[in-house]
Amino acid sequence: MESTAPEPTATPVAPASPASDWVKRFLHVIIEPRSYLNALYLLTALPLGLTYFVVLIGGAVTGAFTGIILIGLLFLLATLVAAWGFALLERELVILLLGVNVPPLSLPNTELVTPWRMLVNHLRTPSTWRSMVYLLVKLPFGIFATVLAGVMLVPSIAGILFPVGRIVFEGPSVEAIGNLIFPGALAVVGLAVSFHVLNAVARIWGRFAADMLGVSEEQRQVWESRRRAETADRSRRELIMNVSHELRTPIASIQAHVDSLLLPEADRPDAAETERRLRVTAVETRRLADLIEDLLMLARADSEELKVANRAIELGPIVDQVVQALAPLALNERKVTVKLDEMPAGIWAIGDVDRLAQVLTNLVRNAINYTPEGGVVSVRVSGSADHVQIAVSDTGLGITAADLEHIFERFYRVDSSRARDTGGFGLGLSIARELVEAMGGSLSATSQPGLGSTFWISLRRAEPSQ
Ligand code: ADP
Repeated sequence: MESTAPEPTATPVAPASPASDWVKRFLHVIIEPRSYLNALYLLTALPLGLTYFVVLIGGAVTGAFTGIILIGLLFLLATLVAAWGFALLERELVILLLGVNVPPLSLPNTELVTPWRMLVNHLRTPSTWRSMVYLLVKLPFGIFATVLAGVMLVPSIAGILFPVGRIVFEGPSVEAIGNLIFPGALAVVGLAVSFHVLNAVARIWGRFAADMLGVSEEQRQVWESRRRAETADRSRRELIMNVSHELRTPIASIQAHVDSLLLPEADRPDAAETERRLRVTAVETRRLADLIEDLLMLARADSEELKVANRAIELGPIVDQVVQALAPLALNERKVTVKLDEMPAGIWAIGDVDRLAQVLTNLVRNAINYTPEGGVVSVRVSGSADHVQIAVSDTGLGITAADLEHIFERFYRVDSSRARDTGGFGLGLSIARELVEAMGGSLSATSQPGLGSTFWISLRRAEPSQ
């Protein structure tokens, strides 16, 4: 599908003179909130840097030279905790005042570890030592930054306040108005220059802080891939548990029935019972084959091998075919009417014909299965400007809000004993959702317990293809 973006219409703009443009940009720095936040950071850099230095060096020296070893260790530990607290504070200040995006100081650790292990991990993390160096470097930087900010800002601000104060307190006089030009105007220029210089210093320091205070990109990537591997491993283990659990019942049933048919002649059931047992065995075997198909489909989805051939497809024939295929059986076997409620002609969407038919079949089959005799299942298609919706509604049992949150999860069944009667393993909806999402759409459900449910397939709308 190609969509053409409208050509941007050129609005006639009065040609701005480059000189006035430059002056505007030069002075704009005075009204930017970021300039004042940067200045605040630089002005407080010296007192903060001094505090960090005194506490860290003081703590380390006291710890190292304390006569009693235990107290000395306690001092070192307290210094380490203080350093961590200072690093956290600095990170917040850099983010808030300098507007720099700093990665987290440490990566979340889900393992439960002893305090000793935590301390060892903390000492082994490079960012711990990097942040310590940062805190110590902050003192010389603070001397430079605070002095620079003070020297640049104080005269400029005084030069602006002086004439304004004179007019306010002494009334407008020729001399006072003259002061507005000198030093007033000059001070405004001075303030703009100061902010430009201070902003540049803040930018450089902000970049340095982001490198020193946050974990490195490499560490973050290692952590992210480890987390992903753990999640995949957990879901694989869960899948194996669930599959084993699901296989147990049908296999036990098949085994019991086949064993009973292999008993000595005298103990074997009569012909009618034998046939019943064979039928049960056939049904269970088919269920197992279906389960294996579903599992294969999920495995393909997990390894991103699920092939969905997306193209523009017309919905009418697909919906019609599914309804026609399922309606007679539903009426004969379950006295449930399946009907096509609304099908505006010529609705096209992006999707895969076979996969969409598979999803629709699943939804309509569920609707039939979970609707008591005499109920109605209706399918409705509607379209908006860029989306198309297929709704499958039933007048069945409905689903509670608590269950509705989980029904798209693998192996989730609202009532496993009832679901077992209907033959499901709780995989149908999770597969249906994977398929619809692979078509670039979404699958959701709404329900009123006791009244019925509606499942919504939403797909991207497409132009009819020739
Ligand atoms: P199953 O193969 O067990 O039907 P699904 O993934 O298709 O598995 O559905 C999960 C659960 O959602 C079902 O066990 C059933 O309890 C509930 N469910 C699905 N469709 C409906 C419906 N139309 N009405 C009521 N409950 C439904």
